[in-house]
Amino acid sequence: MCALRMALVAVLCGAVVGLTGCSSGSPAFDKPPVRVVCTTTMIADMAKRVGGDRVTVDTLMGPGIDPHRHLPTAEDRRKIEGAHLVFFNGLHLEGKMTDTFEKSRGRIRGYAITDGIDKTLLRHADVDGGEHDPHVWFDVLLWAKCVGTVKDALTALDPAGKDNYEKNAVAYLKELEALDREIRAELEKVSPKESRVLVTSHDAFGYFGRAYGFEVKGLQGVSTASESGTKDVKELVDFLGKNKIPAVFTETSVPEAGLKTVLDACKRDHGHTVKLVGGEDALYSDALGEPGTPGETYAGMIRHNVKVIVGALK
Ligand SMILES: [Zn+2]
Repeated sequence: MCALRMALVAVLCGAVVGLTGCSSGSPAFDKPPVRVVCTTTMIADMAKRVGGDRVTVDTLMGPGIDPHRHLPTAEDRRKIEGAHLVFFNGLHLEGKMTDTFEKSRGRIRGYAITDGIDKTLLRHADVDGGEHDPHVWFDVLLWAKCVGTVKDALTALDPAGKDNYEKNAVAYLKELEALDREIRAELEKVSPKESRVLVTSHDAFGYFGRAYGFEVKGLQGVSTASESGTKDVKELVDFLGKNKIPAVFTETSVPEAGLKTVLDACKRDHGHTVKLVGGEDALYSDALGEPGTPGETYAGMIRHNVKVIVGALK
């Protein structure tokens, strides 16, 4: 075992009390399939699309899991060590795993897919020790800028698959461009401008708002790891009441209790009833849906959200 790899194992094992059987770090790659491990379901979807049949993809945070709060488990570390490639979002989305990934840079084949985005295109936000909003997937064309990192990492490890990765990446980028045009046209149905207000459980939709012309407000900040304070609740209650906002949206990866409290207060203080859009219509924010649901793919997630938003606000 090389010194670097031993150092990685020390890092990964060090944070888990009682973890046994910790073996090598990133294994050598011989031939396909490339074993890929991704943190979120959105990234896994991208890796599957770009990798095609030369990869197998495993996900650490499945449907409905909140990445801001997910603590790395012994199983996660085992998967990370067994993978040829690890893709994570970066920008402190995986708040509790940031240390794991930062310390292992250069020791495992791990890539923050948002590294491919020019920093000037990122929204500023104070999030779990980071300075940028990590929810880049809600601007479809910004998400497209992450494809290159995935393609290049796969190609570097598996040069024989270069044409496959190139072809798949081009096809995926075309689909993303078409998806962006499609939802832009759909969202035009929400007018006048004053009705283009998206209120959700946490501030995941900042890039969505910037790209598609919506004012966005979340009860919690950019990370769900911080609780919303009394002041935040009062501000949101008054905003909803004064602007007669018709609906707010729950998210599949965040409990809806916080928003319910806000709506009760809005009715009490302003006499204004706001619809809580949830259940099957909850927005996918930081995780895709279960297999078999409309949100099981990235494109499906975006389409579901847009359909729900248009239906509630138009
Ligand atoms: Zn989030």
